[in-house]
Amino acid sequence: MTRPIDPNDFLFRLEQLQVWRRGGERAPHKPLVLLFALARIERGERRLVPFHEAAEPLDRLLEEFGPPRKQHHPEYPFWRLERDGIWQVAWPPPLQLRERRTVDPSRSQLMKEGVEAGFTPEIHALLESNARLRRQAVKLLLEQNFPSSLHDEILTAVGIDPGWETVERRVRDPAFREKILIAWEYRCGVCRFDLRLGTVPMALDAAHIRWKQVGGPDEESNGIALCAMHHRLFDRGAFTLASDSAAPDEEPVHVVVSQRAVGGNALQDWLLSFHGRPLEGPQQPDQRPAEQHLTWHRREVFRGPERRV
Ligand SMILES: [Zn+2]
Repeated sequence: MTRPIDPNDFLFRLEQLQVWRRGGERAPHKPLVLLFALARIERGERRLVPFHEAAEPLDRLLEEFGPPRKQHHPEYPFWRLERDGIWQVAWPPPLQLRERRTVDPSRSQLMKEGVEAGFTPEIHALLESNARLRRQAVKLLLEQNFPSSLHDEILTAVGIDPGWETVERRVRDPAFREKILIAWEYRCGVCRFDLRLGTVPMALDAAHIRWKQVGGPDEESNGIALCAMHHRLFDRGAFTLASDSAAPDEEPVHVVVSQRAVGGNALQDWLLSFHGRPLEGPQQPDQRPAEQHLTWHRREVFRGPERRV
């Protein structure tokens, strides 16, 4: 008989989640499916969810918080999570898919055959009875996969009240923040926002270009000072940074706004008025954002296509 799973085993398995990652590609599929399932437990919904019911909300989550891709495939994590030892896929009779378990079933097969999935009964029972563990799991999934600027929006999207978080946030590297803010002279690289209350800068962040969650280093070449609004817009991919130069590491980069960012005055004030404009800073040329990190942002975060005018 196997030993019953305890909360630490479960958190360890979440940490060890087999996330498919190649060359810094983001793969938030499994974490988003698990957050979706945790939110269901929070609402007291049943353990197993049929794929035909989960597909649409998962598509939306991937579209909003996954990497920019032409098509999303919630069927993969829905199916493949079973290999991580915390998830169960259930087939109604006649169990035609069971024989082909080594092959990924298609989206339409999962729909047609009424396949359902959810946490294993043991883990579900553990999570149902332990609110603290649910919070720890949510925090862990968020912190391992998404920058903190997106956490509240992801929670809202899956249906968890962001104010519900009570587990302490992990302390961020204060040295990174300080060195980035000095390099950018304590103002937003996009809009020059530099409000202080006394001597304390307000709503100014040291943003990572390549997210820490995919190995982005705490170095000047990977940081920009951004006001809270531009930080959030940057992490959501409403704009990115690019250079027209053949030697991009040696030239200031400029702001490139997505065609998908739309709106009235807010769009004009926060984005379009900076479109095509070079960043203001940093003070030293060797503190400029490195092209390799900017390339990552354009590929994995920016919601193209870019505006040409
Ligand atoms: Zn700004």
